[in-house]
Amino acid sequence: MLVTDSDVFMTQDMSPIRSICRTMNWRAPLLRTAFRLQNPAVAAELELIDSIERSSAEKVKAVQQERLERLLHHAWSQTDYYHEVLESCGAVRNGKVDLDRFTDIPFLTKDIIRTQSDRLIARQLPKGRRAHTNRSGGSTGQPVRFWQDNVYWGVTIATRTYHFATVGKTLGEREMKIWGNERDLRLGTLGIKAKIENLLYNRQFEQCWYLPKRRILEIINSINEWRPQMLWCFRDGIDGVAKYINEHALQVHSPASVVLGGATVYPFMAQAIEKAFRAPAISAYGSREVGAVACQCLERGGLHIATQAHVVETIGPDETPVMEQEAELAITPLMNFAMPFIRYRIGDRGRLTAKMCACGRAFPMLHSLNGRVVEVLHNSKGEQLDPGYFIWIMAEKINNKALKKGQIIQEEDGAITVNLVLEAGVTRDQARPHLEEVRKALILVMGTDCPVRFEFLDDIPLSESGKYPYIVRRKSIASATSA
Ligand SMILES: [Zn+2]
Repeated sequence: MLVTDSDVFMTQDMSPIRSICRTMNWRAPLLRTAFRLQNPAVAAELELIDSIERSSAEKVKAVQQERLERLLHHAWSQTDYYHEVLESCGAVRNGKVDLDRFTDIPFLTKDIIRTQSDRLIARQLPKGRRAHTNRSGGSTGQPVRFWQDNVYWGVTIATRTYHFATVGKTLGEREMKIWGNERDLRLGTLGIKAKIENLLYNRQFEQCWYLPKRRILEIINSINEWRPQMLWCFRDGIDGVAKYINEHALQVHSPASVVLGGATVYPFMAQAIEKAFRAPAISAYGSREVGAVACQCLERGGLHIATQAHVVETIGPDETPVMEQEAELAITPLMNFAMPFIRYRIGDRGRLTAKMCACGRAFPMLHSLNGRVVEVLHNSKGEQLDPGYFIWIMAEKINNKALKKGQIIQEEDGAITVNLVLEAGVTRDQARPHLEEVRKALILVMGTDCPVRFEFLDDIPLSESGKYPYIVRRKSIASATSA
């Protein structure tokens, strides 16, 4: 079907029968039955979450600590790597777990997963658990292969279901997943199994890995026809769609919320998405390695951590846990016994807060996500500079009528290269005053001794994992251990 601008914005009145069918959510009981039959962990986790979400931070922590103790004991007894590591740091001695020694456990890195792979796999799993392989997207380096089990997956599904419910979409209501990277498309996001799952979940899938104008219009058309209760989107894909909607002042179906994942959502992106869809932009955090970790509620004071299933730490410059400051995340998913990850340096940055959310839920919060570790640039004084500042340059100095797209790269010798795509019809001479502003903003933090070079490109392609690489550090000490 040829889609045009005018087609996209013809509003469709819903027939009374269609409207009644929409309000009858027959999928919710069907899905609950399917969960009970296929993966009882989903139903059990949903019940657990329900019983603790309005309790107290202490109650939630007690559940977490009990699960952590089980995980450490299992890792000690069933994996060669952790038997050695947990014994030597004292976290488990002769089968007795000492949770006070948890922060003495050495961090797990991608390099360790690669080199110690077989020694990290559990020899035996508790009854009812079955293992399967998965691998990370490898957006900033080599993909990592690892093992997960069905209980972990059940917990991930339950946590995600709960997070979606907190932002206005209950189980079985319509959701549109606008996602995609090359690997997902190749490996079967659109396969038969995924299609059945989508039907059951009442989910429509739209790929956003490749976004020419025609694809953007198809997505908008699909949103207007399907009228989902929630959009669940890959940040960079929906960012492109939202920009198009705003530039053309289009009216699009407004869902209850737009849930964003795949990468850190910065304020300027959230603003554009909220303007386009007239709905709250919700930041959700998770990954293939650790599952559904945290999600904002409608208060958006922070991301509620799924503490019953994860320990989330932020690690300061001296490698000890910190609070209330931006730092590198270390995550322990508590429910994967197939290949335990303990204090895993995932390569993301965030800020933990002791403040509780105004919504009254007992789950503690990540105040914010602050990009990837490999997005932290270094100046000649050895200072590490937060990606937020460079994202601000991107939003305030580059996204304008002259400079269409940008990318800031720190080369191995410390110099900065700014890749730029000019708006159609804009010459380099006309762009010069904007370049000067970008240069001034950069040397303010990088120092006047930092060379800044501009490269003009036809386009800045997405990475293989479908992400827009706004900031890139070519090489660093931190990325060698954690990316
Ligand atoms: Zn809340």
